[in-house]
Parts: sequence; C-alpha cells; structure tokens
Amino acid sequence: MLSERARQIKPSPTLAIDSKAKAMKAEGLDVINFGVGEPDFDTPENIKEAAIKAIRDGFTKYTPVGGTDKLKDAVTGKLAADNGLEYGRAEVIVSCGAKHSLYNAMQALLDPGDEVIIPAPYWVSYPEQVLLGGAKPVFLKTLEEDGFLLTASAFERAITKKTKALILNSPSNPTGSSYDRPALERIAEVAVKKDIFIISDEIYEKLLYGGARHVSIASLGPEVKKRTIVINGVSKAYAMTGWRIGYAAGPAELVKAMTAIQSQSTSNPSSISQAAAVEALKGPQDSVRRMAAEFDKRRRRIVEALNGLGPVRCAAPAGAFYVFPNTRALYAKSPEISSSSKLAMYLLEKARVAVVPGDAFGDDDFIRLSYATGIEQIEKGIERIKAALAAL
Ligand SMILES: *Cc1c(COP(=O)(O)O)cnc(C)c1O
Repeated sequence: MLSERARQIKPSPTLAIDSKAKAMKAEGLDVINFGVGEPDFDTPENIKEAAIKAIRDGFTKYTPVGGTDKLKDAVTGKLAADNGLEYGRAEVIVSCGAKHSLYNAMQALLDPGDEVIIPAPYWVSYPEQVLLGGAKPVFLKTLEEDGFLLTASAFERAITKKTKALILNSPSNPTGSSYDRPALERIAEVAVKKDIFIISDEIYEKLLYGGARHVSIASLGPEVKKRTIVINGVSKAYAMTGWRIGYAAGPAELVKAMTAIQSQSTSNPSSISQAAAVEALKGPQDSVRRMAAEFDKRRRRIVEALNGLGPVRCAAPAGAFYVFPNTRALYAKSPEISSSSKLAMYLLEKARVAVVPGDAFGDDDFIRLSYATGIEQIEKGIERIKAALAAL
C-alpha cells in the first residue's frame, strides 16, 4: 500500500526515546529525561501575552502563506541586527518550525540524483529530508579531535559532479560544536569555487557559551550569500517549541518556490504564533540571556560529572544544550552495553535515565544527553548512571 518514499523514511529516533521515557513516566516510574530536545523553561510572559492579545483582537484567520509582513519585518530586522545580513521581504519565508523551513528548502532545491553533503554526527532529520527530496545524503565524518568541525579540505574532497548542497549546523545538535569565522571563510571559499549551495541551520545561535560568537556563513560576502539559505526560528532561543514558528532567508527565487510548496501543503503558520514570534524577536531579550546563563551553569556541571564516570570522555561543548560524551570504552565492559543503542536501553531500564544513542546521529561511539533539565536532575541522573554501570 505504501509508497517507496514512505517506506524508506524512519520516524525521528530522538522523539521515539522521548516518547518511551514519557510512557514510563506516565506509568508512575521516576525517569530522568536527558533525551529531550527542548528547553525546560516556560515561554516568557511577554510573548504569551502577545498571543493572548492576538486571540482577543480576532487575529485568528489565514495570513499570507509565507508569514505576515510584520513578522517578516521582524525577521529581516533580526537578521540585520544580529547577523549583519540584509534581506527584503521577498527573501524571507516563515514556516511551521525551522524543521518545516528545512523541509521546504530541500523540496525546492533537490532533484533525483543530487547529492547533499551532511557532516556527521548530524541532526536526525537532515538525511530523511534529503531522501524525501529524492536526493542522496552523503555523510562526511567529522572527528572528536577536530571538535566535530568539518574542514574545508574534507569538504572539497567529498564534492562530486552530483553535489548540490552542504548542510551546516552551527552551533550543532548533537555535538554542541560551533564554527568560528576563519573556519566558515574556508568552507565558504570552497562552496563558491565549486558552486555548492549551503543550507545553514542556525537554530541554536543564541545558545553559545564561554565567549564563543555566532557567525552566519551567509554574512561572509555576496557570493556565498547568493548560495545560502539561512534557517532559524524561535523554538530554542525563546523556549517556544510548541508554537511552531521557524523561518528561512535566501535568494528570492528559492524563497518563492518554498512559498509555493508551503501554499499547497500547510498554508501559513498559526496566526497567533506569528503574533507571538513578533514579540519574541522585537521585545525585550533579557529572558534569552537568562536562559542561556542557566544552560551554561548546567553545561559545566554535566561535563564535570560525566568526566567523573571513569571511562567516559566528555568535551565541553561551545553551544546548544547537549553534551556528546564518548562512551566507546564502556562497550567492551559487557555485551549488555556493547553499542550506543544497547547502552541507551540499559540506562533507561536499569537507571531510569533517558539518553539518545549516538548511532541516531551517525556515530555509535557517543551518546547524547540534553541538559535542558534542572541541576538537581543532572546530579541525580549521573549518580544513577554511575550505579547502573557499577552493577555490570
Ligand atoms: C530543534 C531543531 C530544529 C527544529 O526546530 P523547530 O522546532 O522546528 O523550529 C532544527 N534544527 C536543529 C538542529 C534542531 O535541533
């Protein structure tokens, strides 16, 4: 019955672990969830008020497909102020989450036979969205000792006649790595020279620690800007995952095609959420700084605790809200934990701690823990992991 396309698609493995952990919780089990990919903070009050006002004002009907002018202007204003990027309304589209912006971009860009380079470890949806676009994901392994950063020379070597695009994610989910300006300049140079398009997912831009600064690759010059679609959204920075607002900025021709695709699938994102997103982008930003400072504290604590687990090695990530410890040395200890998925299952069942196996992100030597959870939960969770490992 099912199409070939439907048969080749895998449901999101991170959402799968999350739902198993939530089901155990619903049964009354005390599960500590390091699997989640969303901030545990509540959406800031001023943003909620903007949504309530939108409902009261009757702003509850269809809007233009690609978003209201007000929100588009808030987005272009943000891109200019934060990223030094000048775009007009025709170069911006608002979608139902950054994931949806990415999906539209792949649908509008890719043809059968095209190759898309995806540095690994990668966010779980990239390969599936490339496949849904009919194209072929080409994985390029990045190394822990290189800080999980793609080098320009590795990128250049991976390019073939069929290469259409590169997906960049900085700061990264799952590794937390972030590219500095010189590294991006070298990658941009290759992309321009070889005429490769860049899909730049910058959803974690506001969550950077220890003085790291976000640079959008599109801001490095007109030649690279012409070949880049910048993807961003309000989910992670403003604790607005449920509101479903993301956006993309890039060449007008591409944005027009993405808007046409969106017009035949979802139409506009929720009018109420759009009003809330205007407030998020244009209102006071102190809540963002407060959340980032809290994430930073947790980041330091969880890195320290994980490195205390003996054979586990955990580098301090520069951004996002994940740590990606190397757990390879554990796999030899027992057949029960001889891979990242076995280890994740063991930890869920024995320690009642949910983590995501690295193989979901294309590297079995690691697991991913989200620290979008309180410090006490972090302390308790790591203690439980320690006990469960000692019981082997
Ligand atoms: C969470 C996430 C997204 C999607 O966010 P939306 O909620 O769809 O806006 C996109 N990319 C990465 C890397 C993410 O972690």
